[in-house]
Amino acid sequence: MDFYSGQVLRLDLSNLRASVEPLDLEWARLYIGGKGLLLRYLFAELAPGTDALAPENPLILATGPFAGTAAATCSRLAVGCKSPATGTLLDSYVGGSFAPELKFAGYDLVIVTGRAPEPTLVRIEDERVEFVPAEGRYWGLETAALEALIREEMGPAAKVLSTGPAGENLVPYACLSTDQYHKAGRGGAGAVMGGKNLKAIAVRGTGAVTVPDMAAFSADVLKLQNERVLSVDNAWTYEEGTPFLVDAVSGAGALPTRNWSTGTFDGAGTINSTALLKIRTKLRACTQCPLACRQVHDFGDHVCEGPEFETLGLCGSNCGVSDLAAVAAFNRECDELGLDTMSTGTVVALAMDLCEQGVADYGLAFGDTAGYLEAPRLIASRRGYGAELALGARDLAALKGRPDLAVEVKGLEMPAYDPRGTHGMGLGYATSDRGACHMRAFTAADDILGGEGAADSLEGKARLVVDQQDFSALAWTGVWCANMALDTDFIGAHLTHLWGRAVTSEELMTTGARIWNLGRLLNLREGLQRKDDRLPERILSEPHPDGVAAGRVVGADAFREALDEYYRLRGWDADGVPTAETLERLCLTEVAGDSGA
Ligand code: SF4
Repeated sequence: MDFYSGQVLRLDLSNLRASVEPLDLEWARLYIGGKGLLLRYLFAELAPGTDALAPENPLILATGPFAGTAAATCSRLAVGCKSPATGTLLDSYVGGSFAPELKFAGYDLVIVTGRAPEPTLVRIEDERVEFVPAEGRYWGLETAALEALIREEMGPAAKVLSTGPAGENLVPYACLSTDQYHKAGRGGAGAVMGGKNLKAIAVRGTGAVTVPDMAAFSADVLKLQNERVLSVDNAWTYEEGTPFLVDAVSGAGALPTRNWSTGTFDGAGTINSTALLKIRTKLRACTQCPLACRQVHDFGDHVCEGPEFETLGLCGSNCGVSDLAAVAAFNRECDELGLDTMSTGTVVALAMDLCEQGVADYGLAFGDTAGYLEAPRLIASRRGYGAELALGARDLAALKGRPDLAVEVKGLEMPAYDPRGTHGMGLGYATSDRGACHMRAFTAADDILGGEGAADSLEGKARLVVDQQDFSALAWTGVWCANMALDTDFIGAHLTHLWGRAVTSEELMTTGARIWNLGRLLNLREGLQRKDDRLPERILSEPHPDGVAAGRVVGADAFREALDEYYRLRGWDADGVPTAETLERLCLTEVAGDSGA
């Protein structure tokens, strides 16, 4: 089969049994791959109301049709399940080289169900699938040591997707790791893997991806690479990378600082791209990517990739830490333990605030790096105060009687763009399908990063958020990297080869809207309501006391009006439920009938 392997591998851990079934080609036509296929299979596999940590919650790995070809940045893997952090759908993306290897082994998707009777590792070598006892050998290992051991056993070409000690201990913001530094970070897929008693999936494949007209495909891929990928628009990725955002976002008053108490950090100059460029040693790339944006730095006591912007903001400024080496060490701890840095940094900042407010005694303080560096290990093991911090920001703040101090949406800690400095991001966070996320709608590009939009207004932002969310859903069918400048022409040029016909921008955006609405149906089926599309009270009504965005709030009335407009543009009713006409237009009527929405 061209581009697709045509096979789905099912791993039933309860019975330690593997089986192969054909890929549903009608779903592949409607949802393409990556996020689209992942959500369609998740919708079918997840029984409504299933606990996220129950064996019945399926963990799904989905490749895109171009994984394993020369198409730039398409080596990324989509990982999905019901999230233990939010109770919503979860789709999370990870670079590196796991997805192409899975295709070479012969699989477009892997669906993991059940719970193994004992800790287990799954080894896939083409059609051979083995369930290997993990206790005493793999279980408990940190991510880098685990990968090294598996490569020693299976050979250097083996690719590993694993959970760390945090996932084994069911921390709801545990991530999945591959190629050491690459993380499917958000929403707790690491805890879902750990809850299945599954330490890792290791894969080696010797097959190939077939393409109908290799000469034509290669010529187009090369042309796109030269004209679109290696263009000036994308040069920032390897010149400075995401750390350039530290100065830009702090300069706009939107950099979370000391648990979101202000948005301009006076220590930004020591954790920005200028500081990192001085110690950069080389650049690395995900498979299939000529941009090579992964920056390796020498911190004296260790050399590693990162930190990226979100880590610098949420583990740096938000914790009041301006010591770059300390932020890098915190990042390394999270990487080794399998913790999402974004959530971990936010939770530690909240814990510092709780100490400052006198309602907790964790020995943590803004800017004090000693306790800060101990926190990830305590969280991952749930020892000491780590047991409370492992709850996540929403539940920790509730436990301590200060829900007003948690900055999250639907239980997912907020990314490092404070909506008081860039209001549109607030609407994007509130309506994101997996809780607060900057990767579905990134309106900051329209106001604080060079566009012409107003950062202190929600006017026109509903249209922007809808379009960007639909486009992101389309882009992650591929699974193209969000670091690269993308548009429907670029994506259409690839899909022309997949579908063997011309492709219009309109049908591509309809596909994105179909996937977004499918996610909405799934979330509604899980009980989400309009009241969950919300922003924290402090973002709505508590202004920064100082900094560039001093005095600004999103405002409850402005937010409500923007949400109404967003629902209207989406073709949803006032409660956020897709109308019959919307479902019909997107070929979702039958699916909605199955959902009870
Ligand atoms: S742009 Fe960077 S993160 Fe994205 S695929 Fe390329 S190397 Fe990986």
